[in-house]
Amino acid sequence: MPRWLQVLLDGVFPQHCEACERPLPLGHGSCLCAACRAAMAAPAPPLCRSCGVPLRLIGPNDPCPSCVHHPPAFAAARAAALYLPSASGLNPLAAAVQGLKYRRRRKLADALGALLAERYPFAPDALLVPVPLHRARLGARGFNQALLLARALGHRRGLPVAPRLLVRTRATEAQARLPAAERRRNLDGAFAVRTARSSPRAPAASTSTPSAGPRDALRSQPRTESAISVCAA
Ligand SMILES: [Zn+2]
Ligand SMILES: [Zn+2]
Repeated sequence: MPRWLQVLLDGVFPQHCEACERPLPLGHGSCLCAACRAAMAAPAPPLCRSCGVPLRLIGPNDPCPSCVHHPPAFAAARAAALYLPSASGLNPLAAAVQGLKYRRRRKLADALGALLAERYPFAPDALLVPVPLHRARLGARGFNQALLLARALGHRRGLPVAPRLLVRTRATEAQARLPAAERRRNLDGAFAVRTARSSPRAPAASTSTPSAGPRDALRSQPRTESAISVCAA
């Protein structure tokens, strides 16, 4: 959309930040204000080479203690931003993710996808695979937020999206309501890879590694592990 038209529309329909609800300047071009965007800081190195958690006491190529004791099924995971409060005390990233998932504010997918694209650290030939929702939750929400994020990221970085490669074989508890250990169990065997005949394979083998469900299901795909990126929110 041309900027002059954006300014005109913003004048007629004033826009507010989707995270903090403060008014946005005319023609701002994003649904997040500058302060909320600035509060979405990238994790500062050194990072665990596996799960990407920032730790002060490890070298740049070391795994964290959790990954040493329970090696994950995935090659590497990286977060686009940390859940940090801003000067107002609000956590803008949490507010934005919850707005997308629970208040159906779909425009947030584009703003968060832009953040992902700016910080995406994986292979330039990666295939983006959004974590699928169970059909019951998809029906209730009306869209899959991971697919919207993957499309926004893929559009900006020129990466293909494979929205039907993974299937969810059963409904699971909402991860947000569970502690870390139960989150792992919650996803065990919940995903399968759709084959060329468009029928899901047997559910992926159970695993107790962190968030391994969808990644474990993809291990037998022909692409290398580093070329498959699983998108979730
Ligand atoms: Zn804001
Ligand atoms: Zn780790």
